Amino acid sequence: MISPTRSTAESTEPESDPPVPFFTQAETFDNCWPDIKQHLNEMFDRGKYSHGRQVAELEKALSEYTGARHVVAVNSGTDALVLLLRACGVGPGDEVVVPAFSFVASASSVALARATPAFADIDPETYAMDPASAEAAVTPRTRAVMPVHLFWQLADMGALGALAERHGLKVVEDSAEAIGMRRDGRHAGLLGDGGVLSFFPTKTLGALGDAGAVLTDDPEIAEQVAILRHHGRMGRTVDHIAGISNLSGASGTNSKMDDIQASVLLGKLPRLDDAIARRAELAAAYTELLTGVPGILRLPTVAVREVPADPVFYVYVIEAERRDALVEHLTREGIGTETYYPTPLHLQPCFAELGYRRGDFPHAEAACERTVALPFHPDLGLDDIQRVCEAVRRFYTGAAS
Ligand SMILES: *Cc1c(COP(=O)(O)O)cnc(C)c1O
Repeated sequence: MISPTRSTAESTEPESDPPVPFFTQAETFDNCWPDIKQHLNEMFDRGKYSHGRQVAELEKALSEYTGARHVVAVNSGTDALVLLLRACGVGPGDEVVVPAFSFVASASSVALARATPAFADIDPETYAMDPASAEAAVTPRTRAVMPVHLFWQLADMGALGALAERHGLKVVEDSAEAIGMRRDGRHAGLLGDGGVLSFFPTKTLGALGDAGAVLTDDPEIAEQVAILRHHGRMGRTVDHIAGISNLSGASGTNSKMDDIQASVLLGKLPRLDDAIARRAELAAAYTELLTGVPGILRLPTVAVREVPADPVFYVYVIEAERRDALVEHLTREGIGTETYYPTPLHLQPCFAELGYRRGDFPHAEAACERTVALPFHPDLGLDDIQRVCEAVRRFYTGAAS
């Protein structure tokens, strides 16, 4: 069923294989281009390039895709987190429990909402927040927990939801990587008070620049995010409202999405499920070829829980012995990799004043040392995967070039 998609370019050196970049979406764009162009043409005809018709259409289309009652388009996944936290009433003096292994925006969004991140360790199987460690981080100042759904699967939302209920906390999902992931049919971001999507180009649904959205079933949260993204403006009036909810007089910001990105996303969304299915095939191919390779400490698995959840492979991450040397070897062979994430959040210099130390969250720290993401995107061919896996095997069996 899977056909190698890359045509082998003619090379003057027949010995050397073509490079395998970590990410590209050239072919995907070729396929979606007619639809994207139609949306762009409508935008040009209308002459409104920001916060216009295409953005409104995208919000509606995403609401249909995810089942969210409300989708509020903003200019990045990071801003979506900041505005969602603020709309949930998070502000000065509050703490939000965040996993120590994530993209920096999971924690910096809390700081940008003028609250303080409190870190928790991860479950080493899923890389998501460990509920027991999260509970240990709860204090009387805790206002919310932020589960992050990393790589291909959801955090343990059953246990984290129960924890939030026990302590009266909001659940703000960092579902930036989680488009298409569902738990018992409910889309990521709708398993608590609200969640976000990122449309950064490398994400599962990627734009041609920065864009993001807030998902929620709560009309008040949606309204507050919509107000905050546009300088605190209500509708067409120019009253810059202050003091909504617990914002203590804080003002809004400019976080509107532009209609160019919305046009790109509208053109790609109808093919998203095909792209997700292709990602599943590619992940299975990697796992088949890497099983049993010495030096590989962990391949992706999906946790079995009481409530079934659908994984969506956003990236393919393995744990490897001598990770940095492996990365160097692959780079020499023309194979792109990424390290998500090299430093745990509790040891990032920007959070030094919080006083965490190495050893506080051993699973997060180990993940930072061992994980590496292999080339992964729907345009990848099975021949590319074979080449990557052979290069990995050569590194560990000593037959490296
Ligand atoms: C990508 C990402 C974000 C931020 O999204 P941007 O659109 O890049 O601002 C936040 N959290 C996680 C886990 C992400 O992967």
